[in-house]
Amino acid sequence: MGEKVKTDVGDETMLVTMNDLLLPAKEKGYGIGFFNAVNVEMARAVIETAEELRAPVMVGTAEILLPAMDLERVAEYLIPMAKKATVPVCVHYDHGLTFARCMEALQLGFTSIMYDCSTTSYEENVVQVAEMVKICHAMGVTVEGELGHVGDNEGAGKLTNPSDFYTDPDMAADYVTRTGVDSLAVAVGNAHGDYKFPPKLDFERIDAIAKKTRLPLVLHGGSGLADEDFRVAVQKGICKVNIFTDIDKAGKAGVEAGIAAGEKTMMGLIPYEIAAMKKVVEEKIKLFGSLNQA
Ligand SMILES: [Zn+2]
Repeated sequence: MGEKVKTDVGDETMLVTMNDLLLPAKEKGYGIGFFNAVNVEMARAVIETAEELRAPVMVGTAEILLPAMDLERVAEYLIPMAKKATVPVCVHYDHGLTFARCMEALQLGFTSIMYDCSTTSYEENVVQVAEMVKICHAMGVTVEGELGHVGDNEGAGKLTNPSDFYTDPDMAADYVTRTGVDSLAVAVGNAHGDYKFPPKLDFERIDAIAKKTRLPLVLHGGSGLADEDFRVAVQKGICKVNIFTDIDKAGKAGVEAGIAAGEKTMMGLIPYEIAAMKKVVEEKIKLFGSLNQA
């Protein structure tokens, strides 16, 4: 980062940028997990597990998740937690949809921003994201772009024919040159939310995009993919995998297990919630290969 913000932990801060985590991951061939954490329990599950496994990790929230917890509130717990962690943590604003919210994240101290202009025209995506990169890089903050469009498995964003929106490798090369993004989210058969059918990832496409862009690639919609898919995707050039649905559902299942065990209070349920989410974070970190990379 450019000018380091003075914190109560001096220069020991573990709050880092996306490049600090993804460039070594790309070089050594492992993946970094990015987990959205819309409450403190989720943030604890992610950061405490990463610490126990000595794994660098990314944590944050997304614009569509803000109804659960406002951006400013999220920053109030995530940024101090990242600074005080014993492993490097990048606090990332995922799927920023509006310029104003991205600027707010920047002001709040997020060290990485995804500006998602993937639903606009190609030229508009290039122009908007290039401007974001210029601003963020001047602040020492990294930027993720998305080319092609990762749709949803259900809801309003559902795509009738997802393969029409797959990332084109040649276009990706042009996109990264013109925008200056630090990482690129790709549409290669992945989707957000729960998969109704087993997804089929286009590994050749991942390979081609990685070779043409030479950038760390990002796989959104990681919840529900098969273990083997992750392993191959990481081999082909995926350096960051986004997980939310899996920990979100695990947290709920943990609360239910606590209730079934006779817990009567929120205080009694929180350990169940955190334990269930930690299990998912641990599985993913081991699967992506970032264990002991901190
Ligand atoms: Zn996403």
